[in-house]
Amino acid sequence: MLTGRKYRLAFTPEQAEFADTIGTICRSVWNTALEQRREYRRRGVWMNYVAQAGELADAKTEHEWLKAAPSHVLQQTLMDLDRACREHGTFKVRWRSGRRWNPSFRFPAGKQITVERLGRRWGGAKLPKLGWVRFRWSRALGGQVRSATVSRDGRHWYVSFLVEDGHTTPEQHACTTAAGVDRGVTVAVACSDGTMRDRQFSTPGEARRYLVLQKKLARQKKGSTNRKKTVAALRQVKRRERDRRQDFVSWTANRLATRHGMVAVEDLKTRNMTRSAKGTVEEPGSRVAQKAGLNRSILGKGWHKLQLALENVARCTGTTIVKVPAAYTSQRCSACRTVDPESRESQAVFRCTTCGYEENADVNAAKNVLADGLSVSACGDLGATRSMKQEPGGNPRGTTTPTAA
Ligand SMILES: [Zn+2]
Repeated sequence: MLTGRKYRLAFTPEQAEFADTIGTICRSVWNTALEQRREYRRRGVWMNYVAQAGELADAKTEHEWLKAAPSHVLQQTLMDLDRACREHGTFKVRWRSGRRWNPSFRFPAGKQITVERLGRRWGGAKLPKLGWVRFRWSRALGGQVRSATVSRDGRHWYVSFLVEDGHTTPEQHACTTAAGVDRGVTVAVACSDGTMRDRQFSTPGEARRYLVLQKKLARQKKGSTNRKKTVAALRQVKRRERDRRQDFVSWTANRLATRHGMVAVEDLKTRNMTRSAKGTVEEPGSRVAQKAGLNRSILGKGWHKLQLALENVARCTGTTIVKVPAAYTSQRCSACRTVDPESRESQAVFRCTTCGYEENADVNAAKNVLADGLSVSACGDLGATRSMKQEPGGNPRGTTTPTAA
């Protein structure tokens, strides 16, 4: 199967400058081609990749600066644009702004790329026009390179290789255990076996620093060098937070998928949920402000990222990921299946008004998700033929999944 391998590059100053130039050329090609597509759409005509690639070749004879970038890379940019326009609509595709867009470009021909290990810590890759570049050998490549993407994130440049690792998704997972997952705002992930995972993504010190930087930014003159420095510092704080979140999400997904043959998650429409509340006055304490706070918490916990990570790990382990409707999972008793909003005593405690069953509210919801997931997969709705011989919430092997330290 195809997988990604990302490494941090160690460019020489000349290479970094050249990579920046290629990024700028790709950006202007993207923007020009997008403008052309929009113009055509306004006249009711479609523009496609083949015509644009032809025009790009013509443009190269007129504009010398375009020749600095490898042609494959520019064609790839047009292909990406073509795909984006077909998927999202020509008028929804974004411009690539010089300030906001992180430079990124792809070398699509794997045959033109050579990768070698240079020592214990260093690897080298030969890329068209850029030549030999060094990168930190942080993990094995483990397959044949299909393409390479060079991108910048803050101060650092990275290369990610798309490799064919020769593995195939197993027909069946080694374990027959199943787990239900409830994603919450107070605790990021609650599992049906009673384990809860959460992590603080930013330290109090970082939150303070962010506020101080924001105040500093407000005082600085637009376009000044010092303002640029502050913006870079703000982004660095956010980047650290994002990296920790990604780490948490990948780690959680990995443990869930390697230990269970089926993982049931709520089918949360994150995008609908995080859409801002419209039509009300935006003032502190209003519904819009409340919704904005909830949105931040939802996005902050990485709900969507967890789903993507789960699906990704499942490709290697053969785990079945089942999405179940999220309705009433937090109000239903997992023991007697009675739905009553009153049962939810507080944010943390669930006590059934009918049978008196008591449980942590998030774990109760996770057990419900698991029960729903088992009934969905038993119906064969997802083409899952395996039977899940397990009581909701229990563990047939008699072992308990170790709680994360
Ligand atoms: Zn009950």
